[in-house]
Amino acid sequence: MATRDRTQQHPLWTTPAVEALRAAPHTKVSEIDTKATPGFAGNKTDGEYMLEERGAVLSALQEMLYANGRSGDKRSVLLILQGMDTAGKGGMVRHVIGQVDPQGVDHTAFGVPTPEEKRHHYLWRINKALPRGGQLGVFDRSHYEDVLVVRVHNLVPPEVWGGRYQEINQFERELVYNGTTLVKVAMFVSLGEQKRRLAERLARRDKHWKYNPDDVTERALWPQYQEAYQAMLDRTSTDHAPWYVVPCDRKWYSRLAVTELMIDALSRLELDWPSAEYDIEVEKQRLARS
Ligand code: ADP
Repeated sequence: MATRDRTQQHPLWTTPAVEALRAAPHTKVSEIDTKATPGFAGNKTDGEYMLEERGAVLSALQEMLYANGRSGDKRSVLLILQGMDTAGKGGMVRHVIGQVDPQGVDHTAFGVPTPEEKRHHYLWRINKALPRGGQLGVFDRSHYEDVLVVRVHNLVPPEVWGGRYQEINQFERELVYNGTTLVKVAMFVSLGEQKRRLAERLARRDKHWKYNPDDVTERALWPQYQEAYQAMLDRTSTDHAPWYVVPCDRKWYSRLAVTELMIDALSRLELDWPSAEYDIEVEKQRLARS
């Protein structure tokens, strides 16, 4: 099957996810409808059914990326997930990336920097975690924490975090130049939906481990976070590495949408199966004789 056939637009997508979700200069974080399903005309049942179908497409493309990597192709794809607590970053990794072969996935979650990480430049730990050729990298949080939580909590002076937007753009430009396609996903839930999800964590014994009392403290800083997310979109959504703004109150939608973004990114590589580096006919004969 040619790559183009695999990525054909489904009629329920009235606008392709890459177009419907791409951050625009006029995108206002405070006006994002977190319950919306941009570009998609189907309901939850449609969305869940399609996730499975499109997951198979994503998986086949990822296998091709991996196969090419094994044959020396230096290209890779990196999914960057940023979002407030409970936006569903973990679920995104499980349900979207979980659809592909784990041996081709390079997953890193970035928490509070360790003492060693703190001794280095903030991009040090990011550089160490970049995907190698043929890998599908996933960052659960990323260098963007250094202009989000760091900005909101004044962990460094404004002139320091202020200089990071340009530095990040430059860093990402080099990554793209060196063959990494970036898929930057900003995940948005409403304050109300976050409350509901946190309440569920408190209500269920199997979810207590996910609850962190600090998350409630952070809710008081919601406007400051919105401002920081706005600056991130305004200043780091570039042609070489645009942001996609994904409403996340409906998990079935956000997972399907990111699956589509990943399919698009992989399709653009125009991959094919690597050709054999041995004589197939000779090998067939050798095998028959063995
Ligand atoms: P999660 O909350 O995603 O399940 P953790 O419990 O590891 O994962 O929490 C990650 C925490 O680390 C978040 O509060 C996040 O803001 C914080 N963090 C990540 N990067 C940085 C950074 N560069 N500086 C300060 N805090 C950071």
